[in-house]
Amino acid sequence: MAKRVPDASALEELLTAERVSTLRQIAALTRDWDGLVESSADIGVDDEHDPEGATLAFERSQIDGLLSRAHEHLTDLDSALEALRAGTYGTCERCGDPIAPERLTARPAARTCIRCAAAR
Ligand SMILES: [Zn+2]
Repeated sequence: MAKRVPDASALEELLTAERVSTLRQIAALTRDWDGLVESSADIGVDDEHDPEGATLAFERSQIDGLLSRAHEHLTDLDSALEALRAGTYGTCERCGDPIAPERLTARPAARTCIRCAAAR
């Protein structure tokens, strides 16, 4: 099978680097989260009636969203690395078709082809 994707070692490097920065992001977000939990405990805010509580609740949901996206991304990176080692990298995990190289260049951790991603 002709490989149009970048070579495996370059990819592994790319994915590993992205994994490290994602882990750093998770660590930073977790620190922010802990800080917020602490500050809301300090003032004993009432999320619904205290304007400060509403801000904190908003920030918490922001961080929560970012954290779950970062965790998802980490899972994608891990499975991409696994697929790379198994030699199945660049294959859509839904339909088994090859994932377009342009898509892999833009999102090296993509697990599905553009068609399956759109159908989700
Ligand atoms: Zn597909």
